[in-house]
Amino acid sequence: MSCATLAKGLLDLEVARARLMASAKLVRGEECVALEQAARRVLARDLMARLDMPCVDNSGMDGYALRLAELDDAGLPVVLRVAAGADVAALPKGGCARIFTGAPVPAGADCVVPQERVRLDEAGRVHILGEARLGANIRRRGEEYRSGEALLPAGWTLDAPALAMLASQGFVEVPVLPRLRVALISTGDELIEPGEPFTPGQVYNSNRVMLKVLLEQADCAVLDLGIVADDLEALRKAFSTARDGADLVICTGGVSVGEEDHVRPVLDELGGLRFHGVAIKPGKPFAFGYLNDGSPEGVPLIGLPGNPVASLVGWHLLARPFVQGCQGRTVGPLQQYRVQAGFSRRGSLGRRELLRVVIDWQGNHPVALLAGGQGSHMLHAASQAHGYLMMAADTDVEEGHEYPYLPAGQFVD
Ligand code: AMP
Ligand code: MG
Repeated sequence: MSCATLAKGLLDLEVARARLMASAKLVRGEECVALEQAARRVLARDLMARLDMPCVDNSGMDGYALRLAELDDAGLPVVLRVAAGADVAALPKGGCARIFTGAPVPAGADCVVPQERVRLDEAGRVHILGEARLGANIRRRGEEYRSGEALLPAGWTLDAPALAMLASQGFVEVPVLPRLRVALISTGDELIEPGEPFTPGQVYNSNRVMLKVLLEQADCAVLDLGIVADDLEALRKAFSTARDGADLVICTGGVSVGEEDHVRPVLDELGGLRFHGVAIKPGKPFAFGYLNDGSPEGVPLIGLPGNPVASLVGWHLLARPFVQGCQGRTVGPLQQYRVQAGFSRRGSLGRRELLRVVIDWQGNHPVALLAGGQGSHMLHAASQAHGYLMMAADTDVEEGHEYPYLPAGQFVD
């Protein structure tokens, strides 16, 4: 989409993402953690294989190991039994070995025949049914990778399969980056916490739990500074506490241009605003800047909108890639494919719109339907959505036409 079609003063989404990612500075340091504690952590260094994988030639099946050239009508006597974990012995000439999955293949054997493809005669000799192939069912030493070869690169997010692979190499612990420390502030005079007595006009704080969970799932250490009033002095104080104890500050609310929106003036005062306003709906009131002297040496601050769905979209599309950049993770482009809309709707002027949709599988054909009310305060649809239908600015949705769809799975840490 060209910038010319954007509402005045707003940054294009891709430009904002690129600017954020270019500003993301890698968190410093390294710590060693046990494998069981390393899920979701980010690898600090490249890791190399310590062992050939597999370490020895071994059987891929329960069956019989033999020399293919020795097979004849008389069959082969079973002269050896090798279970997994056993020492490797050589296969005596003229005989075969009973062997089990994972057991080392005895020297001399060049084929494993699965037990289902074998007949044992009255004398206990092995005859094979059908064809056997040289090397069949033998997992060769080093066929997957060799000792010294690259296993995982720095920046890799450790998950269950990666940790299993490291365990298979005998790793006890892994070097990971320190957790990014993120201070979280909810601004708004109207906010109260769940559990507090409610009077009409007040609003339960939903952004706090949402962002705390999202940040923790993204492997951040959250410094939760709770609710801060719409008051210049209170915000100044909260921002300086935040910058002293965190690598990044995220606040919600008060980031528009109303009289009760104090984030921007305090950011100007304590550091410097880099940009404000992105051409997306919801999520327009998004601010990025630095506390301290406004240089990249300061502590970065992200101001997300107060409306919870706008805050969620701002996290998915903008704040999360910045966090990932600080964590040394690779940030790819938005994953999208075209899906047919099952509804019609007026487009949004000057902003891309991210409609919360569910995918209805009609036969094997996916159709996007609205997940519910699309207001930026409407968490119900956001809680049901499978993803976003991303509409270009000034573009109406026409039922039956295809539009870019962003599956929500790509935003899950
Ligand atoms: P603001 O961005 O401060 O103008 O807030 C926009 C809307 O979002 C208002 O209706 C606020 O009451 C609401 N809001 C702000 N912060 C939160 C929050 N932490 N949880 C739920 N709603 C919020
Ligand atoms: Mg407010």
